[in-house]
Amino acid sequence: MSTPVVQVIGAGLAGCEAAHQIALRGVRVRLVEMKPTQKSPAHHSPNFAELCCSNSLRSDALTNAVGVLKEEMRRLDSLILAAADATRVPAGSALAVDRDRFSEYVTERLRANPLIEVVEREVTEIPQDGVNIIATGPLTSDPMADAIARYTGREGLHFFDAVAPIVDFSTVNMDVAFFASRYDKGDADYINCPMTREQYDAFYQALITAKEAELKEFDRAEQKDLKVFEGCMPVEVMARRGYDTLRYGPLKPVGLIDPRVGHEFFAVVQLRKENRAGTMYNLVGFQTHLSFPEQKRVFSIIPGLENATFLRYGVMHRNTYLHSPDFLSPTYATKHCPSLFFAGQMTGVEGYIESAGAGLVAGVNAARVARGMESFVFPRRTLLGAMAAYVSEGGIGSFVPMNANFGIVEPLEKKVKGGKAARNEALGNRALAELEAVLEEIRK
Ligand SMILES: Cc1cc2nc3c(=O)[nH]c(=O)nc-3n(C[C@H](O)[C@H](O)[C@H](O)COP(=O)(O)OP(=O)(O)OC[C@H]3O[C@@H](n4cnc5c(N)ncnc54)[C@H](O)[C@@H]3O)c2cc1C
Repeated sequence: MSTPVVQVIGAGLAGCEAAHQIALRGVRVRLVEMKPTQKSPAHHSPNFAELCCSNSLRSDALTNAVGVLKEEMRRLDSLILAAADATRVPAGSALAVDRDRFSEYVTERLRANPLIEVVEREVTEIPQDGVNIIATGPLTSDPMADAIARYTGREGLHFFDAVAPIVDFSTVNMDVAFFASRYDKGDADYINCPMTREQYDAFYQALITAKEAELKEFDRAEQKDLKVFEGCMPVEVMARRGYDTLRYGPLKPVGLIDPRVGHEFFAVVQLRKENRAGTMYNLVGFQTHLSFPEQKRVFSIIPGLENATFLRYGVMHRNTYLHSPDFLSPTYATKHCPSLFFAGQMTGVEGYIESAGAGLVAGVNAARVARGMESFVFPRRTLLGAMAAYVSEGGIGSFVPMNANFGIVEPLEKKVKGGKAARNEALGNRALAELEAVLEEIRK
């Protein structure tokens, strides 16, 4: 019997990790990458696993969700983590790398692997035969994006992120904010952050003068197409239209009464539940293009959010991603075809490590499918499993890309004393213990 083969399309963070995991399991890989002959506007290097922007892979601390995710991946012999550890540069508690050496390391390891054949070409159709992983990333080439859109239907594929920031519920000051629904209708599901006129003035001035994130050339070109952003205008742009525009829009105060004081306010920012557990809330109507430090500065002026932890910041940029809860199972295989997988940012995870983590889970499972084994669903209390659960189930509202954070992990069974750091440490320890219990099975 010939050795089975899995085709991986796209040699980015996800595709490289997937290819490595598949080969680790003795399965051959055909890794198809369109570089160097064709490159997205953000890719410049001929090497694989290119870090397009920052050279930081974020925190390495085990009290941080992305730190725990990294540790899980290290325990599963991740190539991306091996490359990062081998090429790290000093950056405090963050794991930052020399980006050229990082990509070279990954490229050399994959090219030297006798089980991996590298093919340099653009793929323009979804393969019909064999076991395949599509990991063509947020800047998937146009013909492939069209092919995926035909497969999912237009509504099944998003081309832009227009995402409002999300905060950790436990860090919202509920002595200031209050639960209520407008006109007391239905359940009091929203958190309301009330503002006096003076507080609104301060927030408004900060918002209209805040610094926006730099637009990449290709985003600028695409954003000219205003149709893309119908109904999701950045909050800072709306604010610049006039002093009261927000008060008639997302900050409308009418019908919102704090039961503790019994009156309406000058303006109110509303927060909506992002997940069923109620650990994450998004700022309603706050899709924004401000830089991350400016979001932290300006949105922390909102009463009740002075010390809020932002689990993810708002973004608006080109990002091709699936409406995964309709299409993917927690193994990243498509629901209707168990031998077709998607991985990486295009599944709705967000970030270098998250993309590689999705590639790891997809790779483990594609190798199992290729050998006729049962698929393996990662425990949902691990970060790898929590991301897979998020991608395949979504949250409460519209499906938005998500980075690794403890808000997507099942809360602890018991309260832990010692505040947020102690809680995070307990969540991290639980994740690693659950991974250890199934390590042998995953390694098969
Ligand atoms: C401009 C930009 C900046 C970002 N900056 C950061 C950041 O600073 N920090 C962070 O954590 N995350 C960042 N991200 C988000 C995300 O983490 C990265 O995009 C990450 O590289 C995604 O990994 P991936 O494997 O899904 O896709 P990629 O790493 O983009 O890999 C996809 C690969 O597929 C190839 N490809 C595309 N189409 C085809 C095709 N049709 N046929 C064959 N090959 C194809 C591409 O050439 C590429 O090599 C950024 C995203 C973008 C778009």
